[in-house]
Amino acid sequence: MARYTGPVCKLCRREGMKLFLKGDRCQSEKCSFTRRAYPPGQHGQARIKLSEYAVRLREKQKLRRVYGLVEKQFQKYYFDATRRKGRTGEEMLGLLESRLDNVVHRLGFAVTRSGARQLVKHNHVLVNGKRVNIPSVLLKTNDKIEIREESRKIAAVVASLAQVERRPMMSWLELDKANFAGTVKGPIVREEMNEPEIREQLIVEYYSR
Ligand code: SF4
Repeated sequence: MARYTGPVCKLCRREGMKLFLKGDRCQSEKCSFTRRAYPPGQHGQARIKLSEYAVRLREKQKLRRVYGLVEKQFQKYYFDATRRKGRTGEEMLGLLESRLDNVVHRLGFAVTRSGARQLVKHNHVLVNGKRVNIPSVLLKTNDKIEIREESRKIAAVVASLAQVERRPMMSWLELDKANFAGTVKGPIVREEMNEPEIREQLIVEYYSR
């Protein structure tokens, strides 16, 4: 299954909440969800009561879309999480958050995860001093992420870093803005991940039905 390349604002409208997939636009009044807070399509404004299954499906789709993954990849994170000791939902979020493209975005080198994925794929990112161009690489505590010296002039990176203070910095990450670098300090703190709101228990229920 190919990656979704259609209009991402439709995804927010489908899920009934802002998924913050477009960087600064999401905070402005241009946000499609602010203007049309109902699902896309001919019957978007019709009142439809979701079944219990549909509620769980939508929750799973929401999280999958936030991280920009296809179903197969997303499922893999769920099944990997079930093999871990902790609570499956939190473990799954931990795995998703450890992805290199997510960390590059969270540190503020790119305003969106798709932008971060592009930076990684185009060889602009170093992990522990080595070039890594696989966005799904999982990072561990004390891993150091850097933007390559030759890539530090990229306008999108400079613009994103200039506004980094406007976005919340997760406590498990440490940014060294002057050196275009960051470090993973430890595991995620679930309570800090509150935008968009995720009910991971429903996703666990979806897959274990
Ligand atoms: Fe589009 Fe961002 Fe608004 Fe979602 S939150 S509808 S991606 S502008």
